[in-house]
Amino acid sequence: MSRFDNKTALITGGASGIGAASVKRFFSEGANIVIADMDTVSGEKLVAELGEERVAFVKTNVSDWASVQAMVAFSVEKFGRIDVLFNNAGIDNYGLTPDLDVEQWRKVITIDLDSVFYGCKAVIPVMRENGGGAIINTASASGLAGDYGMTAYNAAKGGVVNYTRAVAVDHAKENIRVNAICPGPVATPIIAKAQQIPGLQEAWDAAVPMGRFAKADEIAAVVVFLASDDASYVTGSIMSVDGGLTAHTGQPNITNIIANAKEVNKM
Ligand code: NAD
Repeated sequence: MSRFDNKTALITGGASGIGAASVKRFFSEGANIVIADMDTVSGEKLVAELGEERVAFVKTNVSDWASVQAMVAFSVEKFGRIDVLFNNAGIDNYGLTPDLDVEQWRKVITIDLDSVFYGCKAVIPVMRENGGGAIINTASASGLAGDYGMTAYNAAKGGVVNYTRAVAVDHAKENIRVNAICPGPVATPIIAKAQQIPGLQEAWDAAVPMGRFAKADEIAAVVVFLASDDASYVTGSIMSVDGGLTAHTGQPNITNIIANAKEVNKM
C-alpha cells in the first residue's frame, strides 16, 4: 500500500523541472497523475515514459481561466476525483522597474499569481465533494524578500505566499490543506540560461549556505510530503526548501574574513 494509491494529483508545469520530478515521485507512490502544461511535446513524452494507465496530459495555459476550468474538468473526467493540486507552472523575469514593459509585468503576474487563484478556484469545489484535499503552491525564496532586478517575479511570488495563507485559513474546516513551497535555486531549465552568465553560478553557490543548487527531486520530496497524510496538521505553512538561503541575513561571512586576515598577517 503506497501513500497515494487511488488518489489523483493534478500538477501544473508538470512537463519540466520541479513539476516533472514531482510527477515521477507521485507516480512512484501510487497516484494517478494529470500533467497540465503548455509544452505538449515534453508532457506527452512523460506520459509515454510512465504509461497511460495512471498518467494523462492536458494542454493548459494556467494564465487563462477557461483553460484552467477545462484542466480540472478533464482530470475529474479521467480519474473521477482530484486529491492533490500542485500549482507549480511559472516563469521568471528580469528587469528594473523603469525598463519593464507594462505587458511584461502583467504577463509575469498572470502566469505566476493569477494562475494560483484560478487553480484553487476551480479545484476547491471538487475537493469539497471529495471531503477534502491538499493544494501546494510553488512560491519561491523570491517571494520572501527582494532580489536585484526581479520586481515582477518578487511581487508575484510574494502574492502567492500570502494568498496561500489566506486560502488555507478560509478552507481549513473543510479539510482542504493549502501550503506553499519556497525553493531557492534549483537546477531546472528555467534557470539554465542565467547559469551560463560568467561568474553567476559561483556567486549563486556562494550565496547559499549549503553551497549548491537543489536538485528538482529534493523539491519534489517536500511537495509529496505536504500532499500526504503525514502532513495532516500542516496548513497555511510557507516552507523554505532553499539550502539555508533565506535563513541568512545577507551580512558578510565574518568568520571567513577574520580567518583570511590572520593568514595575511602571518605572511
Ligand atoms: P521549468 O521551466 O523547468 O518548468 C516550468 C514549467 O511551466 C514548464 O514545463 C513550462 O512549459 C510550464 N509553463 C510555463 N508557463 C505556463 C503556462 N502559462 N501554462 C502552463 N504551463 C506553463 O521551471 P521550474 O524551475 O521547474 O519551475 C517550476 C516553478 O518553480 C515555477 O513556478 C518557478 O517560478 C518556481 N521556482 C523555480 C526555482 C528554480 O530555481 N528553478 C526557484 C524557485 C521557484
